[in-house]
Amino acid sequence: MFQSARISLTAWYLVIITLISSLFSVSIYIGVNNELHRMEHFQKLRQIEREKLEPVFEQYRKDRARLGVTVPPGFRSFRISDPEIIPQVRVRLITILVLINLGIISFAGIAGYFLAGRTLTPIAQMVSEQHRFISDASHELRTPLTALKTATEVGLRDKNLTLSQVKALLKGNLYEIGYLQMLSDSLLRLSQLEHTGGVTIGETVELSDVLAQSRKKVLPLARKSHITINIPRIECRLEGDAPSLVELITVLLDNAIKYSLKKSSVDVSADSTEDTLVLRIADHGIGIDRRDIPHIFDRFYRADKARSRVTSGYGLGLSIAKKIVELHHGTIHVESIADRGTTFTVRLPMKRIQA
Ligand code: ADP
Repeated sequence: MFQSARISLTAWYLVIITLISSLFSVSIYIGVNNELHRMEHFQKLRQIEREKLEPVFEQYRKDRARLGVTVPPGFRSFRISDPEIIPQVRVRLITILVLINLGIISFAGIAGYFLAGRTLTPIAQMVSEQHRFISDASHELRTPLTALKTATEVGLRDKNLTLSQVKALLKGNLYEIGYLQMLSDSLLRLSQLEHTGGVTIGETVELSDVLAQSRKKVLPLARKSHITINIPRIECRLEGDAPSLVELITVLLDNAIKYSLKKSSVDVSADSTEDTLVLRIADHGIGIDRRDIPHIFDRFYRADKARSRVTSGYGLGLSIAKKIVELHHGTIHVESIADRGTTFTVRLPMKRIQA
């Protein structure tokens, strides 16, 4: 598809350039040809006059010769160029214009093909990203849907199902429905962030409020694994969108807890330079393999798929986090050592608290 689009775009470039160059050539030819016509006309007039006056000149020359007086050098007011020259000029002009046009068309063909490639590459990348996204999303949807279907079918086929078995089946189905709901919420949020912005930056946000709200959201999960979340008191104001910043910190804290060992701790710290807040969220968990680090912000990427399914991840959290940071004109990056822990560093433009 990319190749045929490239060829048809090159053909369009060529058609346009050929039209422009032909128009130029035709106008040059018409202009020069008019001048040649004028010259031809002038030449003919001179020829007629010359034919009329030649006998008079001849007589004058003879009279001068008889008197022994030489004719002044250069005496010949009717110089006429070779009548063949003008048609030759015309032919040469046409040849030169045809050659120039062929050169322009060949150059335009090569340059157009190259330019078409450059123009279409981002579009092709976008389309292939879109395809990958659709196939990843379908894959994510298929797993819980298959589980739901199988469990329901097995349940329906079993005529001796007890009430507690029915309840267990419904509980399992509810888990899968919850997973599907989380997935669709995340997909919607990501599409909102990518296409409409989805954040309203402008309000002044207290960082301590954001951290407190995020902490509250992940506390049940942390309690389950007996993980302590250490957040110092940080006095800092940011210009941003509070719900999105809460979402960002929640994703990072949630991951830190999910991928940490039981009874460990997650430490939040903050530094600030003149106008930048540097926020670090560090855990002492399983870490991320070096080969996975460049991909963890990609949509649906999970470092270890089997393990991630156990931890109920679907690989969209960090994509959402990165998008939120970018919409706040900040940066996010990760440092990790396998089996030692991971630190996410977020840098955001900051508003200092006036004393
Ligand atoms: P998920 O919902 O699977 O956690 P994310 O987009 O939030 O999706 O994270 C992508 C992948 O990055 C995760 O599947 C996990 O493998 C890895 N990851 C993210 N945060 C951490 C962390 N703090 N420690 C170890 N691995 C992490």
